Amino acid sequence: MGKPTGFLEYERSGFLDREPGDRIKDWKEFHGLLSDDDIKIQAARCMNCGIPFCQTGKIYAGAASGCPINNLIPDFNDLVYMGAWKTAYDVLSKESIFPEFTGRVCPAPCEGSCTLGLDREAVTIKQIELAIIEKAFAEGWVRATPPKERTGKKVAVVGSGPAGLACATELNRAGYSVTVYERNDRVGGLLMYGIPAMKLDKSIIERRVKLLEKEGIKFVINTEIGKNHPVEKILKNFDAVVLCCGSTRPRELTQDGRELQGIHFAMEFLHANTKSLLDSNHKDKKFISAKDKNVIVIGGGDTGTDCVATSIRHGCKGIKQFEILPCPPLERASTNPWPEWPKLLITDYGQEESAHVFGSDPRHFVTMTREFTGDKNGNVKELKTVQIEWTKKDGRFEYAEVPGTEKSWPADLVLLAMGFIGPEDKLLEEMGIERDERSNVKAEYGKFATNVKGVFAAGDMRRGQSLVVWAINEGRAAAKACGEFLIQS
Ligand SMILES: Cc1cc2nc3c(=O)[nH]c(=O)nc-3n(C[C@H](O)[C@H](O)[C@H](O)COP(=O)(O)OP(=O)(O)OC[C@H]3O[C@@H](n4cnc5c(N)ncnc54)[C@H](O)[C@@H]3O)c2cc1C
Ligand code: SF4
Repeated sequence: MGKPTGFLEYERSGFLDREPGDRIKDWKEFHGLLSDDDIKIQAARCMNCGIPFCQTGKIYAGAASGCPINNLIPDFNDLVYMGAWKTAYDVLSKESIFPEFTGRVCPAPCEGSCTLGLDREAVTIKQIELAIIEKAFAEGWVRATPPKERTGKKVAVVGSGPAGLACATELNRAGYSVTVYERNDRVGGLLMYGIPAMKLDKSIIERRVKLLEKEGIKFVINTEIGKNHPVEKILKNFDAVVLCCGSTRPRELTQDGRELQGIHFAMEFLHANTKSLLDSNHKDKKFISAKDKNVIVIGGGDTGTDCVATSIRHGCKGIKQFEILPCPPLERASTNPWPEWPKLLITDYGQEESAHVFGSDPRHFVTMTREFTGDKNGNVKELKTVQIEWTKKDGRFEYAEVPGTEKSWPADLVLLAMGFIGPEDKLLEEMGIERDERSNVKAEYGKFATNVKGVFAAGDMRRGQSLVVWAINEGRAAAKACGEFLIQS
């Protein structure tokens, strides 16, 4: 423990975010880091707890409490406080293989369970992680580490999201020859085409992918297994296959008027926006523009927030975000004690930006869409909603409409961001892979083996829609399971 009284002396300072009025003018990252000296002060707040809940990664009440990849948090906090940045990097990289991703986009369950959070603000762990890895890149400490020997066995990883990248990294380092197949034109999965550039600059992904190529991983893009590359070919040419194809089927809304033009799934909007930005700085105009439109985002989660922030950068006329669930509390409820993941109302970057431009938080809770109406050309023009009320009956939550709360909202662009319901059917049907009751790939956590011999599954495709940090956890663990299979086969 660097400074025993640090937690008493210093207050928490979070990321130095750019001001909303400044950041909405471009697509550059909005999180900024404190200076090295200030980061050291933040690291001094860590109490080096006897039981560091921050790094446990246990599931309490259905959510992760502590870091799912078991980062050695008190150790690197201590080293940063002492100014031993290189050793802090060595310690960080023992458990965290892509800290430059998690340091930017992770919701930080570690901070939710930090002991300091019991009666003060948690240690700014995520920022310390990002500061270490960015210093490591700047100092040239992050180097490709190809394996010294090759086993002669080959593995195909299908999908290049965080699960696929983590799995490929570990298998390659263990000496297997790994080829990653990706149907998109760029590597990274939702890191590349889901999370917008202002949260995660795409050069950060390319920087890591270049290192992985140097380590010997082969990336094959524009190649969809089961479409323009036959399944039989990978089964024949590789000793094992790991499927990391994500949970890509969006939840649908079947209300009247759904067929109108101008109603899109969030991922159509976000993917095209980033692709056009990277291809031509939006000059090719191959994206769905929100400019001068009344935009309604249905879904109050992270994906919805990314749609809000993207629409604001396009120059939308107005923005609303509807959520069917009630507004979470500002402080922990007694039913949600530490160290559980705190279920609180978070005002994220998109909501801050809406408040700056339009003077209010765009979110409306307990709001249900009833119908879309359109103009004579078949374009959406209006969205009708009603307020709902939730009650618990026989242990299950039920909702009922509140009479007299019907409302109409002008809408020129509607973005559906209500989550994902599982992986796509085609590849799994062709491979004869069994699904579980939630339609995800059936493969036990820890074993990751599917019902087809030599075929494994990891990430959102196996656990359902989740987080980058869980995809990394699963990719690494599936690599271990696949390696054990290859040793025995
Ligand atoms: C808009 C959005 C924002 C998000 N923001 C955050 C965030 O801020 N923080 C966070 O922690 N999590 C966030 N998430 C969740 C996180 O991105 C996912 O949990 C994570 O990316 C899942 O990783 P994965 O590798 O399992 O799948 P994915 O990242 O979905 O990658 C799967 C890849 O497989 C490819 N693929 C699919 N089928 C085939 C095939 N047949 N052949 C070849 N390739 C194929 C796909 O093209 C894709 O590139 C967000 C999700 C979305 C949608
Ligand atoms: S729980 Fe918080 S204070 Fe305790 S070791 Fe982890 S980061 Fe430090």
